[in-house]
Amino acid sequence: MTVDDAYAELGLAPGATLAQAKAAWRSLVSRWHPDRNGHAGASARMQRINRALEQIRAAGEGKAAPHPARKDPAPAAVHTAQHRITLTLEEAATGCIKQLHGSIVETCVPCGGSGHAVAPQDCPTCAGKGQLHERSWFGWYAIGKPCTDCNGTGTVRPACAACDGRGKTELTRYRMSVRLPAFTRDGDTLHVPAARGRAAVALDIHIAVQPHASLALDPTDGSVRCEWPVDGFGWIANHTVDVPTLRGPQPLQLQRGQVLYRLAGLGFPPRSGGRPAEQIVIVVPKFPEQLSRKQERLLAQLAQTTAAAGDK
Ligand SMILES: [Zn+2]
Ligand SMILES: [Zn+2]
Repeated sequence: MTVDDAYAELGLAPGATLAQAKAAWRSLVSRWHPDRNGHAGASARMQRINRALEQIRAAGEGKAAPHPARKDPAPAAVHTAQHRITLTLEEAATGCIKQLHGSIVETCVPCGGSGHAVAPQDCPTCAGKGQLHERSWFGWYAIGKPCTDCNGTGTVRPACAACDGRGKTELTRYRMSVRLPAFTRDGDTLHVPAARGRAAVALDIHIAVQPHASLALDPTDGSVRCEWPVDGFGWIANHTVDVPTLRGPQPLQLQRGQVLYRLAGLGFPPRSGGRPAEQIVIVVPKFPEQLSRKQERLLAQLAQTTAAAGDK
């Protein structure tokens, strides 16, 4: 391959820069890698694309093209693995670290993914005849019956030796520690580019978020809503209670007569960006259906104080 051929292979005019060549190589690899492209010529095309970049790089360094016997290692193609992970709403809000692992498999080239050897062979059970002849009970005539090992066809296709009949070969395994940023939403997809100097595996992470028992996120404006039962007497007495938030329980000073409270900055940022929205807490005061004798006595005393005040 001459340098001009190499430029043509990458779809570039002769004299394009190395950076342009790398960019063209990257987009061609993502299109032609046999992992993604089922075309029969994909793997040969990949080899030409890799060789073209090597050639341009070598020419740029003012050297002759490297001898084919000792090629520089071609840049590894990047494989993108798909992962789906489910987060709690708290994990989605604060960000978290997840360990992800898996393997990259590609369609087996020798068998094209069928898992069978390409050339059929004579069935060893019936020696390629498709029929088995057995002596009848009485021994004076033979009965032909179809061979079950080859379904009467006389030929079998043994498992592909390259992939043990699986139709796929494992290219690499990976194990990665991925930091998910704060404020991911249900349905988001995060792309993690391949790390340099490692197995070239990039990840697409599809995020699902579990519904929360007491907090509901409005995905558009980022506000969080919470209905929270509180003791009715504590509400009248302006007690402080703990309410759930995305950052754990937070104290809330109750005000008798008030059921709606706004906690600034405890939601998600709006989808359009900006500062985190508020959390709205709606308290639901609960009074006991059955009062204890002590509670009855105290309530009676309390009612008397109101009556006394009214008398004045
Ligand atoms: Zn057979
Ligand atoms: Zn195979």
